[in-house]
Amino acid sequence: MNQRQLFLQHVAQTSDAPLALEIVKAEGSTLWDVDGKSFIDLIAGISVCNIGHRHPAVTEAIKKQVDQYLHLLVYGELVETPQVAYAHHLARYLPRSLNAVYFTNSGAEATEGAMKLAKRYTGRTQIIAFNQSYHGSTQGALSIIGDEYWRNAYRPLLPGILHLNYNSFSDLEHIDTSTACVVAETVQAERGIVAPSNAWMQALRKKCTETGCLLVLDEIQTGFGRTGSLWGFEQIQVIPDIVLLGKALGGGMPLGAFIADQKIMRCLTGNPVLGHITTFGGHPVSCAAGLAALKVLQEENITGSVKEKEKLFLSLLKHPQIKTVRSSGLLIAVEFESFKKNKTIIDLCIEAGALTDWFLFAPQCMRIAPPLNISDEEIVKACGIIIDAIDKA
Ligand code: PLP
Repeated sequence: MNQRQLFLQHVAQTSDAPLALEIVKAEGSTLWDVDGKSFIDLIAGISVCNIGHRHPAVTEAIKKQVDQYLHLLVYGELVETPQVAYAHHLARYLPRSLNAVYFTNSGAEATEGAMKLAKRYTGRTQIIAFNQSYHGSTQGALSIIGDEYWRNAYRPLLPGILHLNYNSFSDLEHIDTSTACVVAETVQAERGIVAPSNAWMQALRKKCTETGCLLVLDEIQTGFGRTGSLWGFEQIQVIPDIVLLGKALGGGMPLGAFIADQKIMRCLTGNPVLGHITTFGGHPVSCAAGLAALKVLQEENITGSVKEKEKLFLSLLKHPQIKTVRSSGLLIAVEFESFKKNKTIIDLCIEAGALTDWFLFAPQCMRIAPPLNISDEEIVKACGIIIDAIDKA
């Protein structure tokens, strides 16, 4: 059996039609398959590889840490320098109230931890989230995602969850003194890039403050420069009580985090002690890689060119068959008439050497979320491939 057959037989599948490309190398914004064919990466591992694949600063940091130690003990027991250094650096570049970092293994676990923390801090049980939002696939995170098609087969899910409409001022009335937290994406990514109005986000912040519930902003996909600022919430001038990070947080290694003020986070230390525990959360190699990646993002001012690159994409993504293009920095959704049409175009793009896909709650939209340091030449080439594919579809 070849690798592909072994993959289909022994690696658990989540769809009947996995891409199943056999990638053997990745660097910058390029992937190479086993036959030497190259692909421009337009999805960056789903908003993970914001500084491109295998940046030398990241691989160096990983090698250095591997030579010192790997896993030592469960989260929170030892002073592990990679964790401390990364938490300290993150706190320097976050608002002052976001100063205590709880590292997890994934984005979904960050969502889980934040939901538990909000319940403990407020003593309340209701959790509010939004229709067409995505926060992860574990039972708790699944309970708050905003699409019944994805939730339905796994009921019963968590009780006490209320879904409101994103961007609806009138729906904010449902937030009250029984609400522990409101969980919202800074930009709804899997809906096909839907940004809130600043006024609505600010009204949401005000309502949370008035009712004493915590505002949790999910920056798992929008963080680390993706939307053109280090954090998406900078552009809407709203500071959350808890921020969720993941994806690019680990610089290509698995890492998530929920971050809050120490006074909130301390709820996890007593009654019961060990209020949230994990063996591998904040793995030293992941923290070393993540810190190196964040420093590259900042030192090379990669975020600074995101808006210009977004403009270049938008100027080139013009075709009568494109219904709309919605974007927030280098998080771009190109909408076609149907999933069928989109899938045909995606397959043609991959065949021609540009890797893209669709969005969970917007299958008629093509996802464009490349490494943030993709070059202008690569953007021009990728858009050429997309336009050709649309012509052929
Ligand atoms: N939140 C958002 C906005 C996401 O896009 C994702 C993953 O796509 C998650 C949470 C869950 O992260 P993970 O897949 O690491 O559990």
